[in-house]
Amino acid sequence: MAWSEHQHAQLRAMGLRLWSPPAALEEPAAVAAPAPRAAAPETTTSTTLARVALPRSPQPATATASPLAALGWPELRAAVAQCQACGLCESRTQTVFGVGHEQAQWMVVGEAPGENEDKQGEPFVGAAGQLLDRMLAALKLTRSSEDEEGDRTPAQRVYIANTLKCRPPRNRNPSPEEMAQCEPFLVRQIELLKPRIILAMGRFAVQALLRSDEPIGRLRGRVHHYQGVPLVVTYHPAYLLRSPLDKAKAWEDLCLAADVAEGIQA
Ligand code: URA
Repeated sequence: MAWSEHQHAQLRAMGLRLWSPPAALEEPAAVAAPAPRAAAPETTTSTTLARVALPRSPQPATATASPLAALGWPELRAAVAQCQACGLCESRTQTVFGVGHEQAQWMVVGEAPGENEDKQGEPFVGAAGQLLDRMLAALKLTRSSEDEEGDRTPAQRVYIANTLKCRPPRNRNPSPEEMAQCEPFLVRQIELLKPRIILAMGRFAVQALLRSDEPIGRLRGRVHHYQGVPLVVTYHPAYLLRSPLDKAKAWEDLCLAADVAEGIQA
């Protein structure tokens, strides 16, 4: 696969470099081998490039335009784990890739890992996550991909990912540069998962996927689309913990998403 100069630049900015296969090997799929953290000279270059920041396109990114477009789940997970594209790599305990079954028909997109997620390596494991799990369970949905859940169909499974894969220090808001650097990972996750419905929780998920700064209250209650995939906007569970009166609206949003996933509503 030939990579354009733009794609090379994007990969470098994300702290990734292309692995050139030995000529003896048969044309493998292009693999973006993550730059090992210990590789001092390249690390410096990548980090420096990252601080320059990728421009944020006014349109939501398309997966095919991403230099990660050739990566499968394992390669993408590895690329995230090794990413040094922004300063968050310096303060994180670990990256938080995502959780759920790779055939899940539902995708939930949140904001960024918090303290618990940073420690455990899984999205939404704190108080907000427990609320999210209860909301999902009310619709008989699960994030689990364990074998004992083998009786579950893809329609009952949820894949959960964040807009950022690393925790912003002290849980501050993600910066536009961090969002732009991390976006290709989310884009590729969506392309690999091919969900039937995306539930965008909170304003950063909405900014990333819809390029909208409108308040959640103005965007919720109807069906949007991200690259042809139906998308429902709802409140972030952390907000719901602070504003429990809005839980009823979030429940309406989940029911709307369920109708879309079941084909009851387009
Ligand atoms: N909030 C988020 O948006 N994501 C998490 O993973 C945890 C809290």
